[in-house]
Amino acid sequence: MTSQFSAYVITEPCVGVKNGICLEVCPVDCIDSTDDDDQYFVDPEVCIACEQCALVCPMDAVYLDIEVPSYFKSYINRNADFYRANKGEPMPVPIDRALTMIQAGHARAMELDIAVSVSVVDEGGRLIAFGRMDRSRPMSVDISINKAYTAASFQVPTTDLGAVSGQSWFQSLIVSSQGKIIAVAGGLPVLGEPMVVGAVGVSGGTDEQDQECARAAVAAY
Ligand code: SF4
Ligand code: SF4
Repeated sequence: MTSQFSAYVITEPCVGVKNGICLEVCPVDCIDSTDDDDQYFVDPEVCIACEQCALVCPMDAVYLDIEVPSYFKSYINRNADFYRANKGEPMPVPIDRALTMIQAGHARAMELDIAVSVSVVDEGGRLIAFGRMDRSRPMSVDISINKAYTAASFQVPTTDLGAVSGQSWFQSLIVSSQGKIIAVAGGLPVLGEPMVVGAVGVSGGTDEQDQECARAAVAAY
């Protein structure tokens, strides 16, 4: 699977230093290592290319993948290989479950007397299933997809992003993602065993109503 973002890569200057400073700033917790490894690695499937790790690294060890100097190119594979070896393959939300989740979101919306769009995406933010209720507003279509995309990319509820949404790196991400990153209520990750396997996004009601419908959808997983 390929992330929809470019990813940052940790290279040779980290070897033997491994002081973990970058771990403190990564908003999606995608930097890891083991006791047996002498450097940290970035998970290219999860990295959202926010640049925060590169900005704090005292060794200048971190590069965007398309900007890694030729003498450090092998580290692109080394970072990816670390996760291939240490992380299981995610199993995306199956289509029958996704459709059930959409029905659950719609059912909750009917109880609330609103009309919503519900999107279910895989762990990389790619659409699995979508359902738009009659009378839901046209703009709810893209917004629900974007909420799901954001929840999958950050692996947290979109409501959790309020604290960082005003920061410059987040604003840059909004621009570079062409508006697909969105920090409003209604996006929730879907937790499998042991990792995020997708996300749901709901749009059409108030923030609270969208959030409630998203919760109903996730509960049906
Ligand atoms: S670029 Fe951002 S998301 Fe990627 S590893 Fe660095 S801090 Fe984490
Ligand atoms: S801040 Fe730099 S040197 Fe420190 S662990 Fe991260 S990549 Fe390695």
